[in-house]
This record gives sequence, C-alpha cells and structure tokens, in this order.
Amino acid sequence: MNVYILDHPFHYEIENICRLFFPNAAIRLVYEPQEDDGERIVTEITRQGGFHYRAAVFVGGRTSEKVMDSEPCSDEEAEYDLALCLYLALTELTGITPVWGMLTGVRPSKLMNTLIHEMGEEKAEAYFQNRLFVSEERTHLARTVAQAQRDIFAQNRPDSFSLYVSIPFCPSRCSYCSFVSHSITNANAKKLLAPYLENLKKEIEATGAVARQLGLRLESVYFGGGTPGILSVEQTDELLSAIRAHFDSSACREITFEAGRADVITREKLLILKEHGVDRVSINPQTYDDDVLCAIGRRHTAQQAIDAFRLAREVGFKTINTDLIAGLPNDSVEGFCASLDQAVALGSENITVHALALKRSSRLVAQENADLNTDDTARQMVDHANRTLRDNGYIPYYMYRQSRCVSNLENVGWCLPRHECLYNVYMMEELHTVLAVGAGAVTKLKAPEGNYIERIFNFKYPYEYNSRFDELLQRKQRIGEFYEAYR
Ligand code: SF4
Repeated sequence: MNVYILDHPFHYEIENICRLFFPNAAIRLVYEPQEDDGERIVTEITRQGGFHYRAAVFVGGRTSEKVMDSEPCSDEEAEYDLALCLYLALTELTGITPVWGMLTGVRPSKLMNTLIHEMGEEKAEAYFQNRLFVSEERTHLARTVAQAQRDIFAQNRPDSFSLYVSIPFCPSRCSYCSFVSHSITNANAKKLLAPYLENLKKEIEATGAVARQLGLRLESVYFGGGTPGILSVEQTDELLSAIRAHFDSSACREITFEAGRADVITREKLLILKEHGVDRVSINPQTYDDDVLCAIGRRHTAQQAIDAFRLAREVGFKTINTDLIAGLPNDSVEGFCASLDQAVALGSENITVHALALKRSSRLVAQENADLNTDDTARQMVDHANRTLRDNGYIPYYMYRQSRCVSNLENVGWCLPRHECLYNVYMMEELHTVLAVGAGAVTKLKAPEGNYIERIFNFKYPYEYNSRFDELLQRKQRIGEFYEAYR
C-alpha cells in the first residue's frame, strides 16, 4: 500500500497511525504525487497563510477523506492535526476504534506519569481520552499503573542503575518469535554458546569495573533472553559468580532470572539460582493448553509447566512470574481463560499478560492473513484477564505496547501487592541507566538529572558478538565518558 507524505516531515507518525489499522500491510512511503489508482493513503499539508491538512484513504473500493485548517503553528501541533485527520479517516473507513485511540507510543504509562507530573491526574486522564481518543478503560489502566509505580519512583536515585544480562539461546524456536534468539537444536548455534559465555564474563567484568569507578549504585539484575534457563548448572553458577565478583551488590534490591520454558528447568538449576540470591524466577508457558503449545512449537506440555512452577515453589522461590499470551494460534477465548485460571490457581505472584505481536520475522506471519486488525478474540481475552486479575487481588504495575500487536492491545505486568518486579518498572519507565551485556543487549544511559537518554548497541547476533568482541568493549568506553560529562 502506498502512503503519500506530501509537503510535510511527519512520515514516522503517519506510518505509525496506518499501522494501527493495517499492522502487517507492506507500506511504501511516497514523497511525490504520482498517477496511482491502487489502494493508497494520501496525507498532505498546504501552507498558504494558515495550514490546510488533508488525509484521504482509498482502500477496499471505498474512500474516506478528512480535512482541517489551522493558523500557522509549531511542528508538534501540525503533526498532531494531520495525524488526527488520518486517524478519523481510517476509523470511518474501517469501522475500527483502537482501544488506545491514536496513541502510538510504546509506553502509555510513561506518558501518563509525565502528564500527571505536568498537569495533575484529572487533566492527564482528560488528555488521554479527549485528545488521544484512548478508551476510558485503557485510560484508567494507565493511571492505575502510574499510581502503582509511585513508591518505586520515589526510591530511585541519580546514581541508580540496573544490569541486564542477555542469553539469546533457546531450546527451540517458537512460531511467533521475532527475537534474535538461536535454537540450540542447531549444531552451529550450539557451538557459539561456550565462547559466548566466556566473552559475556569478560563483559561483566569490564562493566562492573566501570560501574565501581563511577560510584554507581546497582539496584537490580535481570537475566533475560532467549531462555536463560537453558544454561547448565555450572554455566549459571559461573555467570552469577562473575556478577558477584565484579559488582558491588550491597544495595541490590532484586535479581530476576527468566528460567523460561519448562523443558529446561531442573531442581539443580533452581537451587543454584537460590544459592546466588536470585529472588524472582519467570516460568513462561504462554498457555496451559497442550494443543496451543504444540502449535507454537513448544516442546513441553502444560503439565510440565505446572510441575516446573511447583518445583520452583518447593525450592523456596517466593515470587514466581508466569507469562501468558493472548491471541496465540489455535487458542480460543475459553482456552485462554482456562490458562489464566490455572496461573491464578497456582498462586503465581506475577502474571504478565502479553498480546500477540506478529512481527514480520516470525514464522507465524507467513501463515496468517493478518493484514487488517479486525479480529477481536485477543481483545476479549485481554479484557477478561484484566477483570479476573483485578478480582483476584492483582495490581497492574507496568505496561508497554508493541507495534503490530493484535487489536492494538498492550502487555501488562500484574502482581500481588509487594511483588512488583522493580527492573520492569525501571526499564519501561526509563527511570535509570541500564547497563546491558551480551548479544542484542542495548545499554541505556540516563542522565543523572533530566530525561536525556543515550543508547549503546551491542552486536545483535552471538557470532558477531564473539568475533567483534574487542570492538564492542571499545564502544562501552562511552559509559564512562557519558557520566564524566555530568560531573
Ligand atoms: S522462548 Fe521466547 S525467545 Fe525463545 S524462541 Fe520462544 S519466544 Fe523466542
């Protein structure tokens, strides 16, 4: 589909608005008018004294057009007015009313927090509903999340930071996955693991040295992936020992380990985590339905996931997270509700409900006709989860959105009181620096005062991480320079 960007610089926001309605359409941005009678979207601003905005949508043999005029105004206001024209034209033509309205950002609660800070809670809510067309329910959700984060915000300090450790390897590849994660069933990928871990330990050492030198205060550690649970007991032991040896953990408030999939979790691995002070584990079945597990390429059963959960509890973990996904292939609203009930019945202190995001790089996109965002099955699932979790005493404490997410939904972390994962809040609200190690990891440096953020990207793939490791260490020198600039 051609999307015309005529006489304005707002291609990024215009594409994002189009994606709300056509999440997986192949969009081609066109900057010059041309003869075109295909499916297309035209956006333009004419400036003659004042500004004239026009958005016209020609899709499915139908047309919808919206125009608006304004006085000359700032770029920000002009972008909003044009985006509004397009949003109104698209809702009229498709009949779709996105639950997050025309809010395209991935951090609704961050925006809510900012608006509350600037204008107070009531005006912030009004902004969400009246200016961005966010539904009343989603507005309330964002506000509840912002409220749940208050204490965590209050305890954050200018010298706080967290450590993220990336393990981009998995036991097999899930059909919906778009992460850079290697299945170790592939012999070549398996060969990369040992050298990868050697480099990772070196990067931990180098990062720890910088953090100490700068006098930063480690608040949380998060092992994510991939599937960190794929590591052997010895490998897990070595990584956690490296962190203990090279970082000052005296102020560290939590260590989270994504044990991940039931097919890799053993009592011995859980025990070594416990021994090293890991206080939170994630066991992520995504569903407790065997047919759905099979459809997404998981090699474990629902019963194995339940057994892994009970094992973690037996070993002594007091906070266990369960990830579920709404909108998986072969799942039904009833099936999803049964999975949710199972997670609640197990007593999971954290339940994270994701809405399926169909990225182009996932196998599933090739199988699905996911061009128009009309299926509301996932929305029913998520709405049911929101009600059920609230009724069972869970609080929504962090959230984010992803592009190309079914029905424009959101991912929400729910927890029983005092079981929030601090790292999730730090990272999603961009509260402080995250020093990230491993392939695909992104270090985010947050200025001690203000909101400025700078990123350092590690190499995405393990083979590159291994082969260009020295270059990567060079890049990391920027961490010291960044903080020195604020001294
Ligand atoms: S476990 Fe997670 S990271 Fe690994 S393949 Fe499945 S979705 Fe991707």
